[in-house]
Formats: sequence, structure tokens, C-alpha cells
Amino acid sequence: MTLGETSERVYTLEQALAEAALSAWGGYQNGRVPASALSPVLSGVPGSGYLRPDAARDYFSMALAFSSAIGRPLDITEGYRDYDRQVDYWNKYQAGTGNLAAYPGTSNHGWGISCDFGSGVQTAGSSAKRWLDANGPSFGWTPTGNTFSRPEPWHFDYVREWTGPVAQERGLGIVLARCSESLPGVGAGFIAAIGIRSLRHLTSANMVTAMRVVGVPYYDLRADSFLGVLDACSIPRSALVGGADYWRR
Ligand SMILES: [Zn+2]
Repeated sequence: MTLGETSERVYTLEQALAEAALSAWGGYQNGRVPASALSPVLSGVPGSGYLRPDAARDYFSMALAFSSAIGRPLDITEGYRDYDRQVDYWNKYQAGTGNLAAYPGTSNHGWGISCDFGSGVQTAGSSAKRWLDANGPSFGWTPTGNTFSRPEPWHFDYVREWTGPVAQERGLGIVLARCSESLPGVGAGFIAAIGIRSLRHLTSANMVTAMRVVGVPYYDLRADSFLGVLDACSIPRSALVGGADYWRR
């Protein structure tokens, strides 16, 4: 058995389980953290758009700095990974048909503190990767994938210690998303402030600008990604109407 997505000092399953236990938080089990304990982020793999709230907060700050420096959003390919998906990846890895995968229950993705990034970060030597390697650690995000048995330039871990729940009133977990393609029933150019279970259609450029000035992350998305964000935030498609102002506790 060869373990994947583990640091250089982890060679056995026992070590991997012991290492994973060090990252436990909130009384949850790896890969079984409820969405209500996590903060939503945008990500490519359906169902993975969540991070531990402090990791999400520092990701948003880092993404803003990244986009100022590199000129594009910092996309997450995959963030949180639930236990069943880890089992699936592990089986594919063992069968020789998938990427490196950690043993189920030992991945930091299962704690909501790992991200696999796109936006060029996946390519060693690119300007995006060099920027994130140099600047990620000051936001708590460390390029741990560089030292995997088979290096993964895209994999970063959030290494700051869990200090308890982060207050959601601080605007955490809200993103601005503009859909550049036509959305069913509402057309193109739809701009919304999206949080978990909330969506507000923004019709004024001033509102959009004001939110960007205070650092709310902004994404220009294709229709399928936009709808994926709604799903990740538990917003029904029926909430998406021209004058959308949707909130549910
Ligand atoms: Zn990863």
C-alpha cells in the first residue's frame, strides 16, 4: 500500500491516522463535517465548495491579493472532501486509475483545511504558483503538496490552529458572482451577492463596487459554475428570478 497526499515523514497507515488526528476540530470526524459548520467557497468539484470558517476567511483575503497581483481569480478546484468521495478516490488510486489519494479518514481535505488550486497554480514554475508559494504562508496557506511523495503543486494546507467558531456576522462566506452567460429564465449579466442560503440580485453598479471595495470576492462565472454555486450554498434554482432576493434560515 502506498499512501498519497501525505507529508514526507508519513510512511505507514498508523502514522497517517495519528497525523490526521492532530488536525481534528469541532468534535467532528474526518470527511463528516456538516455543511453548517463550514463556510461556503466557490470550487470546481461539485459538493467541495466548503472550508473551515477561519481557513475560508484567510482564503478570501489571499484570493483578493492573488487577483491583484496575477490578474485573475484564485480558483479552487477542490476544497472540502467528504468521506465517500475520499473512498472513491482511494479506490481509483489503488486501482492505478486515479491521482494520489490519502487513506480514507486521513486527508486534510476531509477537515476542510486543504485546497487544490487552479488558476495556473497547478503548474510548477508558473508565475501564479511562484506567487502563491511565496505569499500563501502569510495567510496561513502552505504549499504542502510540494513535498508529497509525488509532488502536487496545486495542493495547499491551511496550517493555523483551530481557535473556535468564527462569527458569521463579519460578512464571511459571501461572494459576488456575475454570470457571463444566459441563465435559465433570467438572462445574461445577472450579478448576485451569494451566501449560504441567501442570494441577492444586485442591480446597481454602485452596490457592486462598494462590496468589491470592502474585499468581497468577485467572480465572473459561466452558467454551469454559477448554478453550481447555488447548489453549494443550498439555494434552490427556483430562487433565481429577475428580482431575486432570497433568504432562508
Ligand atoms: Zn489536495
